Parts: sequence; structure tokens; C-alpha cells
Amino acid sequence: MQISQAWIDIAYLAAASLFVLGIKGLTKPRTAVRGNLLAATGMLIAAVITLLHKDIVTYEWIIGGFVLGAVVGSLLAIKVKMTAMPQLVALLNGFGGGASFAVAAAEYFKGLDAAGAAGVLEAMAGQSTGMVAMIAIGAAVLIGSVTLTGSFIAFAKLQELIDGQPKGFPGMKFINLILLIGSVVAIGVLVNDPTQQVVFWSLVAAAAVLGVLLVMPIGGADMPVVIALLNSYSGLAAAAAGFVMGNSALIITGSLVGASGLILTNVMCKAMNRSLTNVLFGVMAEGGDAMDQDEVYGGKVRSSSAEEIAMILEPAKRVVIVPGFGLAMAQAQHAVRDLADSLEARGCEVEYAIHPVAGRMPGHMNVLLAEAEVPYDKLKTMEEINPTFEETDVAIVLGANDVTNPMAREDKGSPIYGMPILNVDKARNVVVIKRSLSPGFAGLPNPLFANDNTLMLFGDAKQSVLDVNTAYKES
Ligand code: NDP
Repeated sequence: MQISQAWIDIAYLAAASLFVLGIKGLTKPRTAVRGNLLAATGMLIAAVITLLHKDIVTYEWIIGGFVLGAVVGSLLAIKVKMTAMPQLVALLNGFGGGASFAVAAAEYFKGLDAAGAAGVLEAMAGQSTGMVAMIAIGAAVLIGSVTLTGSFIAFAKLQELIDGQPKGFPGMKFINLILLIGSVVAIGVLVNDPTQQVVFWSLVAAAAVLGVLLVMPIGGADMPVVIALLNSYSGLAAAAAGFVMGNSALIITGSLVGASGLILTNVMCKAMNRSLTNVLFGVMAEGGDAMDQDEVYGGKVRSSSAEEIAMILEPAKRVVIVPGFGLAMAQAQHAVRDLADSLEARGCEVEYAIHPVAGRMPGHMNVLLAEAEVPYDKLKTMEEINPTFEETDVAIVLGANDVTNPMAREDKGSPIYGMPILNVDKARNVVVIKRSLSPGFAGLPNPLFANDNTLMLFGDAKQSVLDVNTAYKES
């Protein structure tokens, strides 16, 4: 069955509207599931309508690809742990870029086959002029290839297949510049004469090397920001592929991904107090005379037991739980929900303080706590919760570290100076649950652990919370 272009355009418009409504829904936990469903419905409409396009001549390969992709996708969704989500997103971005590259390359060779040397620009034209089509193909190939190889390097770093340390060599930035200029020149040559297949393949190679060289000098610590940026690139590549094929749904979707990826990159940079230029050029903030571990902790850290913590919690009227990466590692979300239930059963108010970069990706903590059915209205943003710490009896820091480090507020020499933090140290009592005094992601000691109002409970987050809950119920 085939339908007219007008119906296809109307369906694409409906799909694009559903994508926009879906993204709007995703901005709030309460509407997120609906948002996801709307966007998925939009995708279903776009995919089904595309399958009815007149240019589709055989369904065998499509069905084969669909089955293979569905099997791989389902297995990944079931198997991959939440803590490995950043790597998975990196891989998916890479495939997105690769797909746009493949579409653009296919259109290029289709145009060559159809028209031979003479009329190739016209053959590639689609709905636009041949020249615009060739520029779009060049852009999709360039951005798609950079995204493909760059994302694979990001994946390999996060999966520790290669060393996460920044890697570079003298003159690397200069070579990157040459590769970029060379790629743009190659696109110019192809616009003039699309039959230059050697130039086309040189463009592919230059862009692929550029992707590798752009991501290699960036340290593992900045990788999640880079992934958000690569996500944005994969959107731009898709939008370019949309221009190549004159497909409005792809243009709109690609632009949405491109813009939202950029916004996310910006949010992450702000929450880590890093500028995008610093991230991209692998410049870490100056360490200054950052304090060493002994100086910060020496004889001042007070260790405690589950029973002691239960005693502090007993009279508490307000408790704030501050989850961090350790909560994800220990999978302590259900245990923490049970503890909150016990506290609430005795009339204590419990809220959760969510830092924008707690864990290893934005929204990490929200997803984990939602899994344990913690009510959304109890999850408070940093801006909402910070003014309330002074009226909080106990702040329980659960596997969080950097996002509570007062050095970010007070120590101008610290590499994280300026990063907005959760002001847990202002609470009347602070309980920090982690396995040791090891530093967090930023590799820095945390003076919070040595404060007069802080008690450390050393142990795995899940087991410790279970122990505290048992002791609390018995108290
Ligand atoms: P941190 O990485 O600062 O600290 C996590 C702490 O969890 C560690 O100190 C570790 O201490 C503890 N931990 C690990 N496993 C367990 C366990 N099983 N039980 C109990 N504790 C455990 O985490 P935060 O969430 O506070 O901060 C996030 C960091 O990640 C920030 O530096 C942020 O900039 C960075 N980041 C976040 C991104 C995001 O989008 N969310 C993106 C990029 C970077 P111990 O070993 O002693 O147990």
C-alpha cells in the first residue's frame, strides 16, 4: 500500500507535534510517563508512515533490520545496569550518528548511479536544489562520522576498555583544525563536482579521525558532558540527513535532539561549574593548594553504629535524605524507601535532596527513587531544599560525596570551587553513609566528614540503611 505525499506530510506533522508534547511531558516527573508515551506514539506514526512511502521497494531488509534491532535493543534494555547507562547512551548516540552517515552516503551513491557524472546534482536534488542536497550530504557525513567515532571512544573510556585519562600529543589541536578545514574544503569540492568519490571517502576518513582526536584528550570525569554534546551532534546529523531526503519529520526530530542535547550540556556544565571550552579542550580547573586527606580528616572524623544513628533519628521531626552515586552502586533505593516509611509512620517529615549531577547522569537519582516508588513531591531540587537545611534535624547523606563538599563553597583553591552544592552541613545533625573515606568522582577530600555535627556510618549503603531501619524500629 502507498499513500500520497500530502498524507505523509500530515502524519509527519502529527508525529512532530507529539515529539514536542512528549518532551514537554518529560520536564516533570508527574507527566514523564505520559510524555514518553506521547513521544513513542509519535515515533510509531513516523515509522509506519515512512514504511508506506513510494520509494520503498522491498520490505525484506527492513523486516530483517527491525527484528535484529529489536532483539539487540531488548537485550540491552534488560541487561544493562543503571550505573552503566552513560556508556549505553554513548553507544546509542554513536549509532545515531552512524545511521545519519549511512543515509547520506546511500543518497550520494544513489544519485551517482542514477545520473552518472553529468546530472548528478539534479538527481540528488529531492525537494531542494542539487547544491543544497550535496551540502546536506556533506554535513550529515561530517557530523555523523564525528559522532560515530567520538561516541565509541567515549563508550570505551567509560567502559574502561581504554584508559580514561586524557590522552594527547603535541600539535593535536592543530591537526584537529586541519582535519576540520579539510572536511569543509572537501564538501566544497563535492558541491562543485559530486563525482569525486575519492574526495567523498577522504571526507569520511577525516571526519572519523576527527571524532577520535576530539574525544581522546577529554578525561573520564568530563565524559558525561561530552556524551550530552555528542547526543546533540547526533541530532544535527539526523537533521542534515532529513534535508538530504527532504524528510520533514527527520529534520524536526533531529533539530529537537540537537537543541535539547545542547541545553543538557549547558545544564551539566553549570552544575559542575565547568565551561564547555574547558571540557572540550581537556582543561581541568587549577588545583591550587587543595588540602590533602590527612589535613582534612586527621583525628576529627567520628565513626558511629546503626544503633547510634537510630537514636539520633528517634526524636527527629524532619529528615532529609541526600542520595548520590553510592545509592546506585548499592541499589539501596528500596531500603531507603522502607526507612522513610518507618520515619513517617512516627510523624517525621522526610524529603529527598536531588543535586542536578548526583550519580553519573542527570536524573540518575530520580529514576532510582521512582523505581522504589518514592512519591515525586518528596524529591526536592537543590534550589528548593537548600534553604530548609537549617530546620532539618538529620540530613542522611547516602553514598553522596562531591555534591555535598563545602570546599566548593568556601575553598577558592579547590578544583570544584564554585560548583553549586547541597548545604547539608547546615543541618543540625549530618549522617554520612559510605564504605570508607575514599573520595568521590572529583577525587577530593570532603571536610563535611570532619565536621562537629557529622557522624560517619561506614558500610555498604543498602546494608547500613537496613541496619539503621531495624535499630530504629526497635528503639
Ligand atoms: P561521588 O562520586 O562524589 O561519591 C560517591 C560516593 O559513593 C563515593 O565517595 C563512594 O565512597 C560511595 N560509594 C560507592 N559505592 C558505595 C556503596 N556500595 N555503598 C555506600 N557508598 C558507596 O557521588 P555524588 O553523587 O556525590 O557526585 C557525583 C559526581 O559525579 C560529581 O563529582 C559530579 O560532578 C560527577 N558527575 C556527574 C554527572 C551527572 O550527570 N550526574 C556527570 C558527570 C560527572 P566509598 O568508596 O567510601 O564507599
